[in-house]
Amino acid sequence: MAAAPKKKIAVMTSGGDSPGMNGVVRAVVRMAIHMGCDAFCVYEGYEGLVRGGDLIKKMSWEDVRGYLSEGGTLIGTARCMAFYERPGRLTAAKNMVLNGIDALIICGGDGSLTGADRFRDEWPSLLEELVATKQLDEKQIAPYKHLNIVGLVGSIDNDLSGTDATIGAYSALARICEMVDYIEATASSHSRAFVIEVMGRHCGWLALMAGVATGADFIFIPEKPREDNWREEMCEIIKKHRGWGKRKTIVIIAEGAKDRHGGKITPEMLKDLLADKSGLALDTRITTLGHVQRGGTAVAYDRMLGTLQGVEAVKAVLEATPETETCFIAITENKIVRKPLMTAVKETQEVAKLIDAQDFAKAMSLRDTEFSDQYQSYMMTTAMGAGDHIDVESSKRMKIGFVNVGAPAGGMNAAVRAGVAYCRSRGHAPIAIHNGFAGLARHHGDAPVGSVRPFEWLEVDGWASKGGSEIGTNRELPEESGMELIASLIKKYEFDALFLVGGFEAFHAVSQLRKARAQYPELCIPMTLLPATISNNVPGTEYSLGSDTCLNELVSYCDKIKQSASATRRRVFVIETQGGRSGYVAVLSGLGVGASAVYIPEEGVSLEMLNSDVKHLKDVFTRDRGQSRAGRLLLVNEKASKVYSAKLIADIIREEAHDRFEARDSIPGHVQQGGVPSPMDRCRAVRLAIKCIQHLEQYGPGSYKNAEKIKEDPLSASVIGIKGAAVVFTGMKELEETETDWKNRRPKEAHWLEMKDVVDILGGRAPYPQPE
Ligand code: ATP
Repeated sequence: MAAAPKKKIAVMTSGGDSPGMNGVVRAVVRMAIHMGCDAFCVYEGYEGLVRGGDLIKKMSWEDVRGYLSEGGTLIGTARCMAFYERPGRLTAAKNMVLNGIDALIICGGDGSLTGADRFRDEWPSLLEELVATKQLDEKQIAPYKHLNIVGLVGSIDNDLSGTDATIGAYSALARICEMVDYIEATASSHSRAFVIEVMGRHCGWLALMAGVATGADFIFIPEKPREDNWREEMCEIIKKHRGWGKRKTIVIIAEGAKDRHGGKITPEMLKDLLADKSGLALDTRITTLGHVQRGGTAVAYDRMLGTLQGVEAVKAVLEATPETETCFIAITENKIVRKPLMTAVKETQEVAKLIDAQDFAKAMSLRDTEFSDQYQSYMMTTAMGAGDHIDVESSKRMKIGFVNVGAPAGGMNAAVRAGVAYCRSRGHAPIAIHNGFAGLARHHGDAPVGSVRPFEWLEVDGWASKGGSEIGTNRELPEESGMELIASLIKKYEFDALFLVGGFEAFHAVSQLRKARAQYPELCIPMTLLPATISNNVPGTEYSLGSDTCLNELVSYCDKIKQSASATRRRVFVIETQGGRSGYVAVLSGLGVGASAVYIPEEGVSLEMLNSDVKHLKDVFTRDRGQSRAGRLLLVNEKASKVYSAKLIADIIREEAHDRFEARDSIPGHVQQGGVPSPMDRCRAVRLAIKCIQHLEQYGPGSYKNAEKIKEDPLSASVIGIKGAAVVFTGMKELEETETDWKNRRPKEAHWLEMKDVVDILGGRAPYPQPE
């Protein structure tokens, strides 16, 4: 029997460029080749499809080397007028058939995806017309009766319904937050106000998230216009913030911001209001960020998203039948999923229409849950942080202890800030416990400042973008401090609940406290943990605060190393990553930089494995013969092996290379904790911290009086987490008993392990063990 003809899959980027598109192209090309298909790139978006010729090019494995670390889209994009018209699409269809392409993966915004669906819809009639007009004959079109299309959403606006994040949105957000952070320094120095305009004609995601991440004083977004008295409201809030002693004012406005009646709100209008001599009289400047927001390389998250979605798109193409509905690849919380393309496009267009028709409530309802959660978060943390909108009756107010445990991780301060703001808005008393349980145990009573004290809002308000842990963190566990002492202190300070932010030590601490409840009824208060550790090894969640910041640091570190390796040619770098006994950061950064191999504790390192990788590197460098300048990276988790360290692996490779190529080791160390936390860590910190306090407040004050009830309630000691497509609380006991690998200090299941296969496949790693 003759072998089935090879499938020919083409990938294209279209509409506005966005960081991460190159990751898509690399993933589609390599995955397609890996699956035994031919891979094509269509250059310049639909323009390339219409013009054909050199713009449709068959790609080899090597052609997409180095793509991950480049910004924009290397295969070009364009707005193509011809494709709006049937004759343009007819020529495009002809070019597809002539090149034998039977599947098209398109990465673009809603316009590009609408065009794609239209093309697919018309496909049979386009083929008929090509035959009728004798441009092609029946035989030529016979193998192409059905066009298979899969969409990927590349857009910096994050404006497509049905997916939490579009490829490029977090990179644009990172750029915006970086700029706002810079502006804040000068604003504070001169006590100035800045009005910052960000992109988003119909979607306020960038403005909203930038507001949450930077703790901006006021924001304007298209889908949620302010009340008619917005001028007074803005001035009043800013006056109040200034009244606390704040020296800077930041207002963020989306370019599509409007009032409730459809009237445009411009940065100039805001500037005039803020500068008005009879009012706030602030020295006010306008900064329009413009195309800076599109620029630069993709953050780790977008590289991951583009890569995993590209791989999923190829799988979707290969699994599709003529009956399969056209899909696009989405992400819901942490899960990559396929969804019907046109439903999402229609909903997206509906939002724009609803905004124009001023039906804002419905427009908001069509945004995903994270969007409305973040909007609520923003309103609670910034507008109400002053604590003057108290919603809870005095009998329900609680005293909540805040404690950070373990190593610092990006987003810890943002989480504490959000928790404090939420408590204040509800009338609860948030209390800082400085320097973890060690701080609580050692300095109580007589320390000059006290290790347990109420938060000062003015101080906390500035923590939205700060790295490290402002209240101090410590690894010591309650049992080390003395459980009896800790229990007595919890009683002494009359805590009604505990809010912990930290890594595996914090998890262990909650477990110890829970178990000690049998002996110390004072510990029968609700307690919840918001995981924060760069290692991302806390059971109960697939994501910990700080892990995104760490991945960004690692990816940019590796980009630089790779550049140096490429400049000197024929060099391999072996980089040691942190992560304890969890290979998460090694694998995810490997995904983000295109590592040739990743060594993790979950798999260990063996001589056979090294042998296979060294052999593979030798083959690669022999094949290269100096034409390719790209260096190679190998990532080794610090605990992958007791023997094979990064240095030893580099030495082995160097010895085996016999001067045909070089190998060096490199250890980024604590750089991985990051300086300024990433916007994703900051925003998720806010959203999850508020959910934690809301969870705790359900128990009300004085719950230790009902000790038995608390002990029986599985969620009275819990961990908040993102699991698959949902944000959930899981009871500590369940996690301790069923999900924790205590010996290795990590969850039993590594949800990310299959991503390692993707790193291996796309990095071209030779299968291990080598097939006979
Ligand atoms: P962005 O979010 O950056 O605006 P987009 O994909 O929405 O990205 P558009 O300019 O709307 O950007 O669309 C890109 C291209 O897709 C257009 O230039 C056109 O070639 C094609 N296209 C868009 N809408 C349609 C349509 N309704 N019919 C046919 N082709 C379309």
